[in-house]
Amino acid sequence: MRELEERILKDGRVLPGEVLKVDGFLNHQVDPDLMFNMGTEFAHLFRDAGVTKILTVESSGIAPAVMTGLALHVPVVFARKHKSVTLIDDLYTAEVYSYTKKTSNHISIAKKFLSADDKVLLIDDFLANGQAVQGLFEICDQAKADVAGVGIVIEKVFQTGHQLVHDRGVRLESLAQITSFDDDRVHFASEQTD
Ligand code: 5GP
Repeated sequence: MRELEERILKDGRVLPGEVLKVDGFLNHQVDPDLMFNMGTEFAHLFRDAGVTKILTVESSGIAPAVMTGLALHVPVVFARKHKSVTLIDDLYTAEVYSYTKKTSNHISIAKKFLSADDKVLLIDDFLANGQAVQGLFEICDQAKADVAGVGIVIEKVFQTGHQLVHDRGVRLESLAQITSFDDDRVHFASEQTD
């Protein structure tokens, strides 16, 4: 998505460890117009997938997920993060290792918000090594819900998450695909096709 790539080039900053800082429009301050356009794009991409529910992880997945839900007219559920989970009777839970924070969290969703009747679209801000998406897959498996697809705002295609989604046989759509960082320059897959 050209608008997103231009915004990454304008406002993104490359940090050590191949982390892209985009707190000016996605991870801290949020640009609602850009989010709206991204939600519209995800909805367009998955409009024939029979999606009944959108799942994401708090907090940075929520804005793009809600905009997609708005466009598809389906509910959005965000998994909550906890250091540990003790009372889990009413929850689906999974353990997720965070790429940027280098710590593990449990994520959970109340059982009443996900069922075997659901066809789920997973939305997240970044795809790096795929741990967050893997956690959401596990939660869908526990609920016996079908995963219709994965929509990612920014994918770092040189990390392993892409393969993980591919191995599961689920459709993956990313609005910006970063192929590499060299020094502080960001390169996109679209540069190779332009
Ligand atoms: P994964 O679980 O795919 O390894 O990483 C996904 C999660 O880590 C995302 O939800 C995001 O919060 C965070 N993350 C991974 N890579 C980056 C990055 O380059 N920049 C930022 N801002 N967050 C990232």
